[in-house]
Amino acid sequence: MANINELLEELNPAQLKAVQHPPQIPLQILAGPGSGKTKVLTMRIAYLITYCHLPPSSICAVTFTNKAANEMRERLYKLLGKDRTSQIKMGTFHALCAMFLRRYSKTVGLDGNFTVCDADESKKMIAKLLKPYKELLTEKNMTLTENGALGFISKVKAKGWTADDARRYVEEMNALTPQERFVRTMGKFEPWEGEFGLILASVYKDYEKSLREANSVDFDDLLMFGVKLFAKHAKASSWCRHVLVDEFQDTNNMQYDLMVYIARASQCVTIVGDPDQSIYGWRSAEIANLGKMQQDFPATQQIYLEQNYRSTGSILALSLAIVSQDKGRIQKTLRASHAQGPPPVLRIFPIEQVEAAFIAAEIKRLVAFSGVRFNSLSRAIESALQKESIPNRVLAGHKFFERMEIKDVLAYLQLVDNPQYVPAFLRVVNVPSRAVGVKTINEITLRAQQLKISPLKVVERIVDGKIPDTKPPVKKKLASFVHTIRILRRHANGGIAPSKLINALVDSINYKEHLIKTQPDADSRWDNVQELVNFASEVEQNGPEDLVRRMFEADEALHEDVPENRDGEESQDDWEDGMHDFDGDQAEGLRASGDTPLRLFLQASMLSSDTETPEEEKSKEKVTISTCHAAKGLEWPVVMIPAVQSGVFPSTRAEDVDEERRLLYVACTRAKGLLYLTHTTARMMSGEFVPTHMSDFIGSLRDKKETRDLFTETLPSLPQPDRKTIATVTGRSLPDEAEVARRVSEYAKTARHPAWGDNAPFRETTMYTMDEDVVANWTPQSFP
Ligand code: ATP
Ligand code: MG
Repeated sequence: MANINELLEELNPAQLKAVQHPPQIPLQILAGPGSGKTKVLTMRIAYLITYCHLPPSSICAVTFTNKAANEMRERLYKLLGKDRTSQIKMGTFHALCAMFLRRYSKTVGLDGNFTVCDADESKKMIAKLLKPYKELLTEKNMTLTENGALGFISKVKAKGWTADDARRYVEEMNALTPQERFVRTMGKFEPWEGEFGLILASVYKDYEKSLREANSVDFDDLLMFGVKLFAKHAKASSWCRHVLVDEFQDTNNMQYDLMVYIARASQCVTIVGDPDQSIYGWRSAEIANLGKMQQDFPATQQIYLEQNYRSTGSILALSLAIVSQDKGRIQKTLRASHAQGPPPVLRIFPIEQVEAAFIAAEIKRLVAFSGVRFNSLSRAIESALQKESIPNRVLAGHKFFERMEIKDVLAYLQLVDNPQYVPAFLRVVNVPSRAVGVKTINEITLRAQQLKISPLKVVERIVDGKIPDTKPPVKKKLASFVHTIRILRRHANGGIAPSKLINALVDSINYKEHLIKTQPDADSRWDNVQELVNFASEVEQNGPEDLVRRMFEADEALHEDVPENRDGEESQDDWEDGMHDFDGDQAEGLRASGDTPLRLFLQASMLSSDTETPEEEKSKEKVTISTCHAAKGLEWPVVMIPAVQSGVFPSTRAEDVDEERRLLYVACTRAKGLLYLTHTTARMMSGEFVPTHMSDFIGSLRDKKETRDLFTETLPSLPQPDRKTIATVTGRSLPDEAEVARRVSEYAKTARHPAWGDNAPFRETTMYTMDEDVVANWTPQSFP
């Protein structure tokens, strides 16, 4: 185990002050990128446990992504050991809510085996729900897309509103005069007015109903129900002695409320954040939460960190120049602790294919220098090239848990865990093909509604001959499906490990065969299924199952010495009632066995799907392709940002230009040693080349004398690599420059035009970065 004292010595005075700040005084650590906020937060957790003797299970640490939670956990393993670390309640707000909701589901009217419905399934659900409104919408000359409806629902959910709340609001607004409305909304235009608003509210109502009928919740629901749980039951958070939140600038109202509720017994809160990196306004994040915290926790103090430990001087200078163009921004100090380093590269290309070829060639040059094995390097570059040619596919295809084969497998397992989950049923009832047509499926769904049972149950009854009017062929077609479900159910009830369950499933449905028959890239898809098995084994070995158990185990002991009810709003009677419910639910949660291995595995997969993929985690030797949003909080030696051009930065769809600029700032400040910005002068839009120009965010800097030298066209010169070393590391000679050039130009010629029309949302801007290990022998300091 690492010695915490030694690590404390590494901190600068401001960082140390933040770590050692008295726990009972609420603290805001506000500082720019790379100033060690996350590091300080992690050290503070260790400090609270080691020096302030807080039980690990009394600490709630909130990260922005699951990946960040995993990283923090790994760092804490080294400081505190696995035993203590695993008791800390750590994760995203969503993951924490999911954990507690499983435990205390009945308190908020859910079943313990609810399924978390992902964005894709939500969209399918909405598509179906919109159908009955089609005529009305056309009649009224209104357009409502699935994304439009989901956007509305998500926005009002972020306010904590149910469908009924939303309807009430719309009705209230509709009753006002335009002037009154203007005053009420403080001049902000809300598109959900008038009849359109009423339609939206009913779509939301239908959606809510469908989710509940399928015994499922969507991501926003996790927070909404979480707030409900913690608000109603002070005891649900009585274990908590300190809440710590990373990336606080991107919390929305519900997340803020969660923080307040969880902290209500102790009033001990530490948050870290950076207003300049607030990039989730479009998802209802409230930068105002910083001020709100000062009101809700009047004793709050602030500490600023001003030393950047991540980037070279020149990368930091450019980044700061970009963000400083925001006139409303509060100026703050951020000093580089690294040398100046080579200036960021700015390059212009005619079209995306050439831009992609440049990126690939440059990656190749850097990697060749670092001496990574040529074989794996070549694969990485090859895929970087391929991915580059179809940016939309990069992202859609990149997220592990969104892949077809993964979703197929998960859907079967979801159905076993939660037979009511209709989206999973619809997904796999005919996968592999059982010749079950749309008509049959519609009949089944209709019958399910009539009988008030799940479609799966209807199918089971059909196969069991309990629905006499079924045609024999239909019964026969469905038999194999029911057979598979029953095998899986039997295994699952016997407590079989999810990894084994997956194997049993793919055997039973002959899934490999199905892939070979239907998919051109069956091999790699089958590899993904194997990867899912690996992921399941990992979860089984040291994953959430164990973590969740430990987190809650420790609570029992804690409840004894929790201070008396400090919540002024609840009377003693409420409190008793609350306790009663709570204990009852706890028993219920266990009875419904909230923690079956299968359920925990499904939850881990669902909650992983925000950013990381298991295979990505492991393959450090690959170039990482990421959206700017998903790169938040992370860092790489080399970062390349393509398409820094009009229509992308800012996106044509963006509502807030300043937020778009901050997004570019976040992207640039991920780089430690080298930063590349590229763009093209033409861009494919709806099948035609449209001229584009450099993003104003950097164009304005290049046009000014004082800031022009912040970039260069010249590629950084790399110190002469030691050929001998590379030869022995790789067992190969250096890649032949001419060969690389030939392949790249050939590629540029043959590459298809990307289907990246202007309807690509700005979030799909890709960012190319290279992992630590790729440039293992190379550091920013290598440059004079
Ligand atoms: P972001 O705003 O991007 O999330 P951050 O403020 O959270 O950045 P960290 O990720 O915690 O910054 O730290 C950035 C890098 O600087 C990390 O590699 C970290 O290990 C290093 N670092 C932080 N503090 C120090 C220090 N005192 N000495 C050396 N390295 C440090
Ligand atoms: Mg951070």
